[in-house]
Amino acid sequence: MNTPLSVEVCILGAGPVGATLAALLAAGGVRCAVVDTSPLPPMELPAFDGRAYAIALSSRRVLDDAGVWGALPGTPCPILGIHVADGRPGERASPLSLHFDHAEVTGEPFGWMVEARALRVALNARLPLLPELSVFAPATAAVERSAGGVVIRLSSGQDIRARLVVGAEGRHSPLRQAAGIPVTRLDYHCLGIVGAVAHEKPHHNQAVEQFLPSGPFAQLPMQGIEGHPHVSAIVWTERMAVAKRCLALDDAAYGRQVAARIGGHLGAVTPIGRRWSYPLTAMHAARYTAERLALVGDAAHGIHPIAGQGLNLGFRDVAALAELVIAAIHAGADPGGPALLARYQAARRPDGLMMLGATHVLERLFTSRLPPVRLARRLGIAAVDRLPVLKRFFAERAMGLAR
Ligand SMILES: Cc1cc2nc3c(=O)[nH]c(=O)nc-3n(C[C@H](O)[C@H](O)[C@H](O)COP(=O)(O)OP(=O)(O)OC[C@H]3O[C@@H](n4cnc5c(N)ncnc54)[C@H](O)[C@@H]3O)c2cc1C
Repeated sequence: MNTPLSVEVCILGAGPVGATLAALLAAGGVRCAVVDTSPLPPMELPAFDGRAYAIALSSRRVLDDAGVWGALPGTPCPILGIHVADGRPGERASPLSLHFDHAEVTGEPFGWMVEARALRVALNARLPLLPELSVFAPATAAVERSAGGVVIRLSSGQDIRARLVVGAEGRHSPLRQAAGIPVTRLDYHCLGIVGAVAHEKPHHNQAVEQFLPSGPFAQLPMQGIEGHPHVSAIVWTERMAVAKRCLALDDAAYGRQVAARIGGHLGAVTPIGRRWSYPLTAMHAARYTAERLALVGDAAHGIHPIAGQGLNLGFRDVAALAELVIAAIHAGADPGGPALLARYQAARRPDGLMMLGATHVLERLFTSRLPPVRLARRLGIAAVDRLPVLKRFFAERAMGLAR
């Protein structure tokens, strides 16, 4: 029999949220373990995930504190401006648009574009350096929670004893399901198409969010690569049938569809690398905690990518939970006790609910084809552009600086 491993916190799920929480807790001197059903090295490979994240300023601070930001390969591309416009494919963007300039807010970039696989490279480099952290992947876990503590039995035969177990296993969280926590779900009946494109003209670190009739289309600035000095990531929301047709097109025809949605400002557009697609749904857990259990990231909430905030919301969970756990351990208190869990839920659930509501309303408002709604949103966009206080309000929220 293996000797049980005793830790303060055991995290199930070493995705971007769970692995960052593990690194942050271990960097703060908390003994912890992280378990994932999948092996971690293949998550670095280009074939694993095509997403690129817009990492907000508040998330960068979490990654800095976890020692992950400095381990990123390459330099993340800063977003210095965001242009929001209403339009139709092939049409010029509406002249009633909204422009955010970083110099008008804090002077810091709005965020940095980081490829999902680059974040994985940094996490995989960081986790083995932390003496307080034990990593088990691939491994499956059977979890028994009780008032006295948590026992996690791994498929390898290793037992782990912890005072808190964290569910970071993504949207289908088995820990959440075993705790009987109900979930509200929304289906947008759309696919999110993601990928990279090279373009003729520079992006000048500007992101563009076009609200098209079938959903938002975002062009996000990336660092250039060899042979392609000007590169952007795209996140394109499209109705299922159209999306499937576009995904099946050859490169030249697909590039024309992308170019019609980007508008003419970047010149000729060429797709590079693979195309990826994700069904777009949203979900929210009725509670973020149960006995000796806390949920973080997509295990607690999944939102529409309209504002690129899903992972940022998860990093805010990480910051709040790590702060509470580190303070409890330093004070000799129980890191999995009901008082700490109540404080975590009170700190995080309103933000999750607000982001779910805001992204849902935005999605509804900006996909409406009704002419009065279209006119109202164009006027609304133009009105916000002329009100510096309101612009600052929206910009600070996008940067994760205020809630
Ligand atoms: C098209 C699209 C674009 C997006 N763009 C952005 C963006 O620009 N910015 C942004 O902030 N967010 C974005 N998001 C959202 C973001 O991708 C998610 O919020 C993020 O991946 C959630 O991370 P996570 O670690 O919580 O969960 P996941 O990434 O789902 O990771 C879960 C981990 O748990 C493991 N696991 C599963 N089951 C178990 C188990 N039983 N035991 C142990 N481990 C298990 C899995 O192997 C995985 O490693 C986007 C989403 C989509 C769909």
